Amino acid sequence: MLSCKELTEVCSAEMERPLTLGERLSLRVHLMMCSGCTNYRQQVTTLRKVMQAYAHGNAVSDESASHDSDLGFTCSGPKSEITLHDQGR
Ligand SMILES: [Zn+2]
Repeated sequence: MLSCKELTEVCSAEMERPLTLGERLSLRVHLMMCSGCTNYRQQVTTLRKVMQAYAHGNAVSDESASHDSDLGFTCSGPKSEITLHDQGR
């Protein structure tokens, strides 16, 4: 079982090289039990995506933003209200 410190080391190693099967397994096991490191890893992964987007010459895309709104944005009520209102005019 990895300690939290070891997990952060595996996470940064992951950016430089593919992880071994053993490393991926212990990463997974630790993340299942440790919400702190789950958050940490999420931040690292997001940061890495942004960095890669920059490296590929793209500005930060809406990709991560739309991913976030997929999780929390279920409200379509106001939209249809607006449409109805427009039609009424
Ligand atoms: Zn941890």
